[in-house]
Amino acid sequence: MVVVGGGAAGLSLTHRLRHLNVSVALLEAPPGPARSPERTWCYWEEGPGRWDAALTARWDRLRVLGPDGRGRTAPTAPLTYKMLRSTDFDAYVRAGLGGVEQVEATVTGVTDGARRATVRALDASGAEVTYAARWVFDSRPVPPPPARTALLQHFRGWFVRTSAPDFDPSRATLMDLRPPQPPGGVAFGYILPLSRHEALVEYTEFTRAPLTSGQYDAALHDYTKNVLRLSPFEVTSVEQGAIPMTDARHTTATGHRTFRIGAAAGAVRPATGYAFSGIQRQTAAVAHLLATGRRPLPPVPHRPRHLTMDAILLRALDTARVPGAAFFTTLFRRNPLPKVLAFLDGTTTFPTELRLGLSTPLLPMTLTTTDHTTARLRRGRG
Ligand SMILES: Cc1cc2nc3c(=O)[nH]c(=O)nc-3n(C[C@H](O)[C@H](O)[C@H](O)COP(=O)(O)OP(=O)(O)OC[C@H]3O[C@@H](n4cnc5c(N)ncnc54)[C@H](O)[C@@H]3O)c2cc1C
Repeated sequence: MVVVGGGAAGLSLTHRLRHLNVSVALLEAPPGPARSPERTWCYWEEGPGRWDAALTARWDRLRVLGPDGRGRTAPTAPLTYKMLRSTDFDAYVRAGLGGVEQVEATVTGVTDGARRATVRALDASGAEVTYAARWVFDSRPVPPPPARTALLQHFRGWFVRTSAPDFDPSRATLMDLRPPQPPGGVAFGYILPLSRHEALVEYTEFTRAPLTSGQYDAALHDYTKNVLRLSPFEVTSVEQGAIPMTDARHTTATGHRTFRIGAAAGAVRPATGYAFSGIQRQTAAVAHLLATGRRPLPPVPHRPRHLTMDAILLRALDTARVPGAAFFTTLFRRNPLPKVLAFLDGTTTFPTELRLGLSTPLLPMTLTTTDHTTARLRRGRG
């Protein structure tokens, strides 16, 4: 089989396939425009995990700060918040891929077929190469499908080294809601401390459109200087991204033998922009289907009711019916942190979700739910 793309999904899947008795080719774009930039993934899970040997850091306490600066640091137990850099993940996974054919090539097309699917690509020298495979898993990014609500989680982060010991490496800051808020959506700081002097400090928005480079830098200058009041620092590297947060419904089959995986296959949790743990569930499911001799259709790794709740929240944020900063402050203040994290990862039961729902602003959320349901009924009729 062929796995297209050596990012989070492609490598996670290939790692899971290496012990199955199947031949696998992993095709990753050579450095250049098609190759995804390096990035940092955070996710949370209970106990030891598959990628622990490659982690940069982990935290058992997380902090959320409201717009008034009042904070709450809470233990995450039984969960741990983990940070993995894509370069370390890549090196770790590839070191264990003995039997896998690893190719640098830019895939130009994937075609389904009755007996075999075909993958066409250009290798590093520009020559065309073709692969025939029983199954193809394609993680190349695609534009998100049409959606009623389409926000972006967009951000720029600075890896900083400060002259004074400004950070507490025993806790990460998940949301610092003190930055000025946009008219719709939400803006917040996010801090992953690596030592007393080093951290990844991000400025993030959930809004409709990304900022200009100058606007991200201005927001980060303001946040680091006027909100965090950091001592003089140097920026050692920069990370930036824009992750679609939409109520679009994803399909994962593009043919009988050809599938999408990863962010292109609905792995992003719409309300959070986190995708890494969804990718783990999705690729584990694919490996299981293959191991049991079935057609390996990747599942969208989120429950339908969670996607509905997320659609309502995104709508409420986008229409500014719910002020984002107040919403997230209340959600985290009124509920145990591990419960909120479990909900955001899709592992809670319905009664817990109801309790979480009741802690949010009821009237605007109810109005948005009605609006969402009416729109769905109308679309169903149309
Ligand atoms: C900067 C950033 C930070 C993020 N942080 C988090 C986080 O902390 N936690 C979280 O859960 N999620 C995070 N996400 C969201 C999500 O987890 C990532 O986008 C994740 O990388 C998605 O995995 P993927 O395999 O679908 O895509 P990618 O990791 O982008 O992998 C796609 C792969 O396909 C390759 N490719 C593209 N075109 C071609 C081609 N034509 N031929 C061959 N190969 C090709 C690319 O080089 C890449 O390796 C983040 C996203 C970004 C952008």
